[in-house]
Amino acid sequence: MARKFFVGGNWKCNGTVKSNEELVKVLNAAEVPGTDVVEVVVAPAAVHIPAVQAALRKDFSVSAQNCWQGKGGAFTGELSAEMLKDLGLPWVILGHSERRHILKESDEMIADKVAYALSQGLGVIYCIGEKLEERESGNTMAVNARQMKALADKISDWSQVVVAYEPVWAIGTGKVATPQQAQEVHDEVRKWLAANVSPEAAAATRIIYGGSVTAANCGDLATQPDIDGFLVGGASLKPEFVDIIKAAE
Ligand code: PGA
Repeated sequence: MARKFFVGGNWKCNGTVKSNEELVKVLNAAEVPGTDVVEVVVAPAAVHIPAVQAALRKDFSVSAQNCWQGKGGAFTGELSAEMLKDLGLPWVILGHSERRHILKESDEMIADKVAYALSQGLGVIYCIGEKLEERESGNTMAVNARQMKALADKISDWSQVVVAYEPVWAIGTGKVATPQQAQEVHDEVRKWLAANVSPEAAAATRIIYGGSVTAANCGDLATQPDIDGFLVGGASLKPEFVDIIKAAE
């Protein structure tokens, strides 16, 4: 089954009203492959979502960067999946390593968030990935499998999930995984899905790579058979993001 290339821009905790307007202007003017070839999603900081949504071209979509694990209510500072749905957002990023490791979100909490977001009709970009010491101690796949299992224990339908493999040592460090390193893990994650969810889910689920993706390195990564797109941080704040979208071709 053909998996449509997926390019996400994770703007993280960056941007002003003005800088976002400028970035959206660049994206709106860009000539990129059509929606039959690539799905493009940008995730501004929550407070900027409605303005970006209003200004952004309609063939790109907008994602949130996080949401709460259940129905909204008395949870100060949180965003509910219902609110995101009410805004018409199709996607939310969950399990990003900055939330796992800085905000101390557990595998279980993240899995609850994903299950709830899916139940509300959102698509989820589910991030997994090992830390440097975990890779160096030979535990890369054990960590990624543990994070996959935490989610598989809570959901059965993976059709609205995009898995983002983002090795923590590659995020924001300029130290990108080699195409071979990334392909190896993507292949293992796909095999994990085949063995633990279903061969159909393994064939259909997009597994995208994130971690210091740039216009310069995306081409070689994109040619790997199990890399179905990218989740881009730093470079998604620059016009260079357009070149990364073009790697879909
Ligand atoms: P980076 O971030 O591209 O700046 O490394 C990727 C991410 O955290 O999604």
